[in-house]
Amino acid sequence: MHDPGSTAKRPVDATEMSDDERYAALADLAARITVCRACPRLVEWRERVAVEKRASFRDETYWGKPVPGFGDPDARLVVVGLAPAAHGANRTGRMFTGDRSGDFLFAAMHRSGFASQPTSVSIDDGLVLHDAYVTSPVRCAPPQNKPTVIERDTCRPFLDEELTLLPWRVVIVLGGFGFGVMASMLGLKPRPKFGHGVEVPLPDGRILLGCFHVSQQNTFTGRLTPSMLDDVFERARELIDQG
Ligand code: SF4
Repeated sequence: MHDPGSTAKRPVDATEMSDDERYAALADLAARITVCRACPRLVEWRERVAVEKRASFRDETYWGKPVPGFGDPDARLVVVGLAPAAHGANRTGRMFTGDRSGDFLFAAMHRSGFASQPTSVSIDDGLVLHDAYVTSPVRCAPPQNKPTVIERDTCRPFLDEELTLLPWRVVIVLGGFGFGVMASMLGLKPRPKFGHGVEVPLPDGRILLGCFHVSQQNTFTGRLTPSMLDDVFERARELIDQG
């Protein structure tokens, strides 16, 4: 495992914190994430993509750094993806922002009342999440959207810390990669099998929900349709309201 240096996880006990302390800890975490250089392959890739750019974005300044989570610091729903897209979040600096996957995701979150608008094009587009937070287990865009096992494990403490600081009741995990990370982080044994609509109750009453990833590979082929995604967010809403 690479040395995460000054960005390493710090001990957190959110139950002892006031809301203001929690918000400050989330902001501190985001600041530490954005300067992390622990994974040499991903640092090289995210920065190279930011210089070479896609032709259609040649006039834009890419973010080119790790991407922190974003949303409501009092969120009871957390949405966990995989990693930033090279020309999406790695360009805009906000999770699921500036690509087709984000269009699909935030349209559904808007329909279910978790997002103020159905589009997500830039970090300053006015999008506000209500009772929801969007994040991922890996914060740097990986080549072919495939982080290595070492990169996954090196980055995981950031997600662990973020989830400790959020008062979540339900996590929707998009895709098998994030589902595996969450199951391992939560110490679930036997390891639950990922599937769309899978619902895993945790011993403390919180719930893990599986959902196919909003990648174009799934949405273009119809493996994941808007109504399938709506069902998952509706279920999350029901569970939150029951809790
Ligand atoms: S993937 Fe995570 S641990 Fe690795 S360099 Fe990026 S932010 Fe740091």
